[in-house]
Amino acid sequence: MGSCVFCNIVKGVENAWIIYEDRDTIVFLDKYPISYGHILITPKDHYSDIVDTPSGLVSKAFLLARAFGAASMEGLGASGFRVVTNKGLSAGQIIFHFHVHVIPRYGDGSSGPITPRAEITSEYASEVVSRYKEALKSEHVSRLLAEV
Ligand SMILES: [Zn+2]
Repeated sequence: MGSCVFCNIVKGVENAWIIYEDRDTIVFLDKYPISYGHILITPKDHYSDIVDTPSGLVSKAFLLARAFGAASMEGLGASGFRVVTNKGLSAGQIIFHFHVHVIPRYGDGSSGPITPRAEITSEYASEVVSRYKEALKSEHVSRLLAEV
């Protein structure tokens, strides 16, 4: 799986803005976000999609998505968030290494202060990473993170 971009991120061969990492999972910024703070949660080992992934890691990815969604509300000012995974080309899956999207929403349902699908800048990335990291320290979010 040498050509898998997420495996390469895990190995440190490919650059990514990483917010969180533990023994078997990693959380980083989507390079082409559809909203401000759009992030991806993925197991470090390669599984092609949600069906292929061991159930413990599927559960863990969604529990992390819950914690990071809460963090987007706490630290980024989101009014809500979507948690999505795509299985298969027809569902919009582009990278065939299982991942869960957390897509924060703002106000009545806007993408926040970004142009959706534009490649992120380092200014955007460092701001979003530090806002998430700050939110992870809050009592509410750290409690959710402890349940992962
Ligand atoms: Zn992979």
